[in-house]
Amino acid sequence: MDCREAQSLIVPFVKGELDRNKAKAFFSHIDSCPNCRDDLEVYYVLLIGLKQLDDDTSGSLDLHGQFEKNLNDARSEVMKKQLGIVEKWIIVIVLFLLLVFLLWKGKEEYDLYESEQIEVNQSK
Ligand SMILES: [Zn+2]
Repeated sequence: MDCREAQSLIVPFVKGELDRNKAKAFFSHIDSCPNCRDDLEVYYVLLIGLKQLDDDTSGSLDLHGQFEKNLNDARSEVMKKQLGIVEKWIIVIVLFLLLVFLLWKGKEEYDLYESEQIEVNQSK
């Protein structure tokens, strides 16, 4: 992602409209590009700050702190969802291995049954 693309994603990001993949790409650009990060913070502070002035909240206006917190929350949200996909794959793999194991066990029991049958036939 280049700066131009990142800049175009600042507004959707602040509004929470980015999908996971775009948010991930956006974060990796923001982390490596101080210019875009600054622009994001300026926009965030403008948007949220104005909104809070409108709402007339009595809390302290620690906009930089809020920006950092919001960014961390959004980042952990993106990372959490990503972990979910990995977990899903682990479950799929475990289920597949279980299936293979059961099939293998089943075949072993069948082989055992077959060899028992042969023994029974031989003893006749
Ligand atoms: Zn940039």
